[in-house]
Amino acid sequence: MKPNPCPCHSGKTYAKCCQAFLSGKAKARTAAQLMRSRYSAYALGGHGDYLYRTWHPDSLGSLQPEDLDLITVRWTHLELLQAQQSGDAGNVEFKARFVHEDGSEGLHHELSTFVRDKGHWLYHQGQVFEE
Ligand SMILES: [Zn+2]
Repeated sequence: MKPNPCPCHSGKTYAKCCQAFLSGKAKARTAAQLMRSRYSAYALGGHGDYLYRTWHPDSLGSLQPEDLDLITVRWTHLELLQAQQSGDAGNVEFKARFVHEDGSEGLHHELSTFVRDKGHWLYHQGQVFEE
């Protein structure tokens, strides 16, 4: 059987990395784990429910789980530049590479902030850097 690498580029298999989070079997213990699992959810598509319930209501706006199911670009690489956590607050800076439908490549560089609410890490907001 061919090992199935995790879409978050951790170097682990999907089964030993983000799958447990996306399936609801485990919850992310750190902001960085949540960030990785949300990237995997975007990369795989069809995990709108997960993205929805790991998103802070303050910044979710009118987004619905169905909106988050869609694959809009093909995510090809994730690099975590730094991750910090203090109590129930955390932030993760990352660079994510993707390919548009027309084949052109893009880079998304973001500093995301996360908060832990009743033991669940939630994505709060992101500051996007223009390259
Ligand atoms: Zn992963």
